[in-house]
Amino acid sequence: MLGRRGTGRFPSLAGPLLVGLMVAVLVQSAACSRAVGSSERAYVTAFPIAMRRPPIKYIIVFICDGCGYNHFEAANLFQHGARDARVDGEFPLCLAMSTYSTGSYDPQAAWSDPAYVTAGATDSAAAATAMSTGVKTTNGTIGLDADGERVTHLLEHAERRGMATGLVTSVQLCHGTPSGFVAHQADRHDYPRIAQEMLITSTVDVIMGSGHPWFDDDGQPLDADHNYQYVGGEDTWHALMAGTLPVADADRDGTPDRWSLVEARAEFQKLQQGATPSRVLGVAQVGATLQQRRSGDALADPYVVPRNETVPTLAEMALGAINVLDDDPDGFFLMVEGGATDWAAQNNQSGRMVEELLEFAAAVRAVREWVDAHARWEETLLVVTSDHETGYLTGPSSDGDWAPLLANGAGALPSMQWNSKDHTNSLVPLCAKGAGSDLLALYADEVDPVRGPYLDNTELAQAIQRLLR
Ligand SMILES: [Zn+2]
Repeated sequence: MLGRRGTGRFPSLAGPLLVGLMVAVLVQSAACSRAVGSSERAYVTAFPIAMRRPPIKYIIVFICDGCGYNHFEAANLFQHGARDARVDGEFPLCLAMSTYSTGSYDPQAAWSDPAYVTAGATDSAAAATAMSTGVKTTNGTIGLDADGERVTHLLEHAERRGMATGLVTSVQLCHGTPSGFVAHQADRHDYPRIAQEMLITSTVDVIMGSGHPWFDDDGQPLDADHNYQYVGGEDTWHALMAGTLPVADADRDGTPDRWSLVEARAEFQKLQQGATPSRVLGVAQVGATLQQRRSGDALADPYVVPRNETVPTLAEMALGAINVLDDDPDGFFLMVEGGATDWAAQNNQSGRMVEELLEFAAAVRAVREWVDAHARWEETLLVVTSDHETGYLTGPSSDGDWAPLLANGAGALPSMQWNSKDHTNSLVPLCAKGAGSDLLALYADEVDPVRGPYLDNTELAQAIQRLLR
């Protein structure tokens, strides 16, 4: 049972529960279970207005890797001194999402047994595959189902509709989450092969991330020990530089589309305005991450350690990517990952976790402003979610239950406690704005006693697949 301390802690539950009840009524009215086909029947039966839905033009999915409810709350408390003052802006719809790969999520066990959520969690590759294809797979697998069969990414559906596509991350460009949205590989750690699939075979229009072979984690040039694995190996990199890399026909005009390579921060910033190349590979001049792996006290408060100034921010990358993608009159699908929140959480680095989340939130806000200025929410879906929780983050003195984070005022980290150095099976938040939000709400037909209505990570893909038909 949920401890008494847990029940009164989440005052915002009434809203989600109301949504859940509405969803439950709609779904039950169609006499359906939550199986995929049933959900679709429920949708058709209970939501005939979908027939009048305008075509989707822009789909932007933000994934804050390794971030549960308390990670977002920690950032809210640091930035605003308030739990619910979202650092990434307000959303009309906020739900929870289950993230397990081959296991399951049992709400009762999750809130009564701390060992339950710390065992058998998904990895980022399986989670990305689920969110991108609607199919669960085993940990370590990218774009293949549990039997090793190829499954179709949202990005591939979008391309069939003629849309432009992009992947942006703060970590290496071929790491678990970005590759989990485009590649098909049995081993997520075979980075050179994955990068080659992304750069040579795929028809993605924009790829941006870290993992530059010639720079260290502080953005300083390396004299030796160049690391080419995240750009497909040394030969691939040199072919990229020379413009001789074999590439795919990304815009389906019968001619292969070479990558325009962008590296310096000023080049990323320049991409945000004016005319752009049609296909852009952005490799920031830094090693593993834009910021999180930089040297200095990794346990310092946010922004105490000077930041890498020679690399773009995640917001600069996202806006640059959009300025490339929005040249396509059919619209675009873009995934933006804050990847290093997970690594800060794995290392229980509270300050760097909050810093990374604020970077992520700034990117979300920048993209919201782009939609406000250049698009219509009636044709745009913005989703902000995570792939799994990391670190079993709670408030202090949590001896197996979920004590809340303790506020210490704006500008100060809240008091918090890490209870794990790994991923957990906890629900993560999912917020959405714009076209198709109603569909996501409809899929959230299960209810957690604390987080309220939740959908599964595969159902995020299933809902977006419907929008792309
Ligand atoms: Zn992850």
